[in-house]
Amino acid sequence: MSASLATVSYIGATILFILSLGGLSNQESSRRGNLFGMIGMTIAVLATVFGPQVGAAGIPWIIGAMLVGGAVGLYAARTVQMTQMPELVALMHSMVGLAAMLVGFATFIDPEAAKEFTGSAKSIHEMEIYIGILIGAMTFSGSIIAFGKLSGRIGGNPMLLPGRHWMNLAGLLVVIYFGGVFMESHSIADAMTPVLVMTVIALLFGVHMVMAIGGADMPVVVSMLNSYSGWAAAATGFMLSNDLLIVIGALVGSSGAILSYIMCNAMNRSFISVIAGGFGTASAAPKPAGGTAEPVGEVVPVNATEAAELLREAKSVIIVPGYGMAVAQAQHTVFEITKVLREKGVNVRFGIHPVAGRMPGHMNVLLAEARVPYDIVFEMDELNDDFPATDVAIVIGANDIVNPAAQDDPTSPIAGMPVLEVWKAKTSIVMKRSMASGYAGVDNPLFYKENNRMLFGDAKKMLDEVLTVLKA
Ligand code: NDP
Repeated sequence: MSASLATVSYIGATILFILSLGGLSNQESSRRGNLFGMIGMTIAVLATVFGPQVGAAGIPWIIGAMLVGGAVGLYAARTVQMTQMPELVALMHSMVGLAAMLVGFATFIDPEAAKEFTGSAKSIHEMEIYIGILIGAMTFSGSIIAFGKLSGRIGGNPMLLPGRHWMNLAGLLVVIYFGGVFMESHSIADAMTPVLVMTVIALLFGVHMVMAIGGADMPVVVSMLNSYSGWAAAATGFMLSNDLLIVIGALVGSSGAILSYIMCNAMNRSFISVIAGGFGTASAAPKPAGGTAEPVGEVVPVNATEAAELLREAKSVIIVPGYGMAVAQAQHTVFEITKVLREKGVNVRFGIHPVAGRMPGHMNVLLAEARVPYDIVFEMDELNDDFPATDVAIVIGANDIVNPAAQDDPTSPIAGMPVLEVWKAKTSIVMKRSMASGYAGVDNPLFYKENNRMLFGDAKKMLDEVLTVLKA
C-alpha cells in the first residue's frame, strides 16, 4: 500500500473514531457508534499492516501475533460474564500499559532506531521513550491492582502507608533526576540503569496509587486508568512515529479524563482528593459518641406475593437497579414486570446512579440488553425530586447508591456522595439476599426505615415469583 493511501486511510479511520465517540454518548446511537468504531479499527489495522512502515518480512509475524491475540480476545469475549466485564476492562487497560512499556524498551535497545535521529530530534525521541515507559509501567501495575480489587482478589479497603504523599513525591523527584541522567547517557548500556530504576519506581507507584484508593472511589480509578491507557497508547504512537496511534491515544486519554471528571462530580469528590486516597473506609472518620452512625429501627421482610400486591396497588413506580441485578442477571425479568405494570397503566421509570454497578454505564448496558425503552430510563438528577410523589420505589440489588447515611451522617465514609432518595417514596422495597453491605462496606440505614420493606433472596428468583403473582 502506498504512503498516500495509508495516510488517507488513517484520516478516514480518525473521522470514524470521532463519529464513534459521538455515537457512544447517547444510548440510541450507541450501536451505530460501535459500528463506526469497528469499521475504523479494521481500516486502521489494514492500513498499518500493509502500509509503508511494515516490510514484507514482518507481515507473517504480525499476522501470527494477531491470530494468537485475536483468539484469546474472542475466547475472553465469549466466555466472560457480564459481572466480570469491569475486571476484563481493567485487565485490558493493563495490556495497553504493558504494550507501551515493551515498545519503549524495544525502541530503546534497538540500535537502528537510535541512528534515525540526531540533534534535538534525538533528545525528543529519548524523552518520548522515557515518558512512554513511565506511563506504560504505571498503567500496567495500577490496572493489575484495579483488576484485583474489582474481582475481589484484593480487599476494597485503602492501604494507607505512613508518609505516603512524601514517598510519592520522593519517587517523582528520583524519576526526574534519572530522566536527566538518561538523556545525557551516550550509550544504551549507560542509559539502562536510569531507565530500569524509573521503571521499577513507576511500577511501584501504580501499585501504591490504586492500593491507597478506597472502595467507594473505585469508579473514578476505573475511568482514570482508562484515560492513562489512552495516554500510554499515544506515547507508543510517538515512539513508533505512528500518527493514528497518537490520535486514537489522545481521544481515549481525553475522553477518559472527561469521564473521570463526570464520575468525580457524581460522587461529589475532587479529583485531587480521589488521588490522595483513603475515601470509602469505615475508619476514615471517627464516629462521635451517640452519633447517628448506627442504623436504628426494625427490618420488615416481605415475601414475593406481598411485594407484588404493593406493586399492583401503585400508580407510579421507580426501579433502581444496582450491582446485584447484574449478578442475578435479572434485567429481563425486570423488563417483563415493567411491561405488565405499564399495561395496567402504572407509570414505571428507572433511576440510574452514575456509579451503579461496577463500571460506568453498567446498568444502562444491562437495561439496553433487555430492550427497556430509553425514554423511561432516567439519570439520578432527573428523578430524585419525584420520589415523594412515587408510590413504590424498588431497589434491585443496589446498596451504596441508595444509602441515606451519605446525606444524614457526616461521619459516614460515603458522606456527601449524592444518592437516589428512594426512602422518600411512599414505600420502598429493597431486593437483596442478606443484610450485607455493598462495595463500600458501609451499613445502610434505609433497611431499617419504617416505610421500607426487604424482599430477601436472589433478585432473579424473587422477581420471577413477583412476575408470576402479577400475571395471575
Ligand atoms: P453495591 O455494591 O453497593 O450493592 C450491591 C448489592 O447487591 C449488595 O449489597 C448485595 O447484597 C446485592 N446482591 C448481590 N448479588 C445479588 C443477587 N444475586 N440478588 C440480589 N442482590 C444481590 O452496588 P451499587 O450498585 O448500589 O453501588 C455500586 C458500588 O460499587 C458503589 O460503592 C461504587 O462506588 C462501586 N463501584 C462502582 C464502579 C462503577 O464504575 N460503577 C466501579 C467500582 C466500584 P447481598 O449480598 O445481601 O445480596
